[in-house]
Amino acid sequence: MMLTDEMEWDSPMYREAANQFENVAELMNLDDNVRERLIMPQRSLVVTFPYRTDEYSKVRTAFGYRVQHVLTMGPTKGGIRYAPDVNLGEVAALAMLMTWKCALVGLPFGGAKGGVRIDPHGLSRTELQRVTRRYTAEVINMIGPQKDIPAPDLGTDEQVMAWIMDTYSQNQGYAVPAVVTGKPPELGGSVARREATGRGIISLLPSAALRCGVGVDGARVVIQGFGNVGRYAAIAAAEVGCRVIAVEDLSGAIHNGQGLEVGRLARHVDLTGGVRGFSGADSISHDELFALECDVLIPAAVGSVITGENVHSIEAKLVLEGANNPTTLEADRVLKDKGVLVVPDILCNAGGVTVSYFEWVQDLQNYFWSENEIVSRLREIMIRAFEEVLDLSMRKKLDMRTAALMIGIQRVAGAKLVRGVYP
Ligand code: NAD
Repeated sequence: MMLTDEMEWDSPMYREAANQFENVAELMNLDDNVRERLIMPQRSLVVTFPYRTDEYSKVRTAFGYRVQHVLTMGPTKGGIRYAPDVNLGEVAALAMLMTWKCALVGLPFGGAKGGVRIDPHGLSRTELQRVTRRYTAEVINMIGPQKDIPAPDLGTDEQVMAWIMDTYSQNQGYAVPAVVTGKPPELGGSVARREATGRGIISLLPSAALRCGVGVDGARVVIQGFGNVGRYAAIAAAEVGCRVIAVEDLSGAIHNGQGLEVGRLARHVDLTGGVRGFSGADSISHDELFALECDVLIPAAVGSVITGENVHSIEAKLVLEGANNPTTLEADRVLKDKGVLVVPDILCNAGGVTVSYFEWVQDLQNYFWSENEIVSRLREIMIRAFEEVLDLSMRKKLDMRTAALMIGIQRVAGAKLVRGVYP
């Protein structure tokens, strides 16, 4: 097999994803030809582009990326991330994870991911709009309802999706809502998309809690991240009777052992921009948050936050991975040895792409479903995938991450083998 440092997209995060794939491929005794194809993304685009700042005479350059990992299964699908340190390797790693995730939950997509290397919080709304429209123009030949369908991710939201949809549609000469998901409902966005990832995570909580002897009612939950994923995971956790005892975002971390008032916290974040300063909670440090005595830990912010350094202090019995790639391989092994049940990202946060798939289907058919239909179909898909993963993990005595990856990789490998090699 080839060396990762010979690849343009080599980076620490890509190595993690590639090693994870290699380990599982080895266990599965995966066909060597397919193995070599799946470790590399099929298409990668790097662009640099200019955008005007609000000071009209000042033009800055941004880096942009779009990676499509596997084109075998249908169009590709994956979010667009705006972050100051995003790079090709990170985007390639996340595209690979999207492939396994879509296959695991049975969606007709290959994985993709995009990114722009900017700090979205350091830009005005007009600057953000110009960056988004120019990035869309740069990747316009790669995306489309039958080609590749972006969605929100870290640092992007419904408004960014609306600008992408508008830019693409202006270029085509007619409205093309199915080019992105996670749009506002006025443009053909799905009701319940915003809450989907958080809700999807919590839909797995009762079954996962049962496996590790945690009672849902009163369970102490710690969440890192209070954005799209973390906020709605917190709301859904409180709805099923859990106590959300601590939350961290970029502004800081807060704790109340009796449980935070999640609705009031959400309003505080809307008003102030962060969880810091929320009355009815104490301020704690990042390290203290991860070491809190709790039942459930939900990393729902950025990658590689559960590491070899902090994993020994983790007290949770159950980790629900809301973020992509939050646990390093080293930390994963320690959690396994400690007997902590980890519901892996490709299963746990698949609610977002599942409701995105519903949105795409509705846009293509111009026929929109009710919120109840969406929520009940989401639950059905999440729970079916959870049971499949649990069943394989028990039959083969594997951890849930390995079992989930095996199911995803097997489906993609099977499709590649029957399609064959062109020409
Ligand atoms: P977001 O930008 O809406 O929110 C991110 C949150 O994390 C914010 O509260 C931010 O303050 C916090 N945060 C960022 N950096 C942090 C740090 N270093 N320490 C502590 N907190 C930090 O992003 P999101 O859409 O909620 O995505 C969060 C994670 O979930 C990402 O890993 C993303 O890839 C993954 N994910 C998102 C979706 C989705 O539907 N949005 C679906 C699947 C996976």
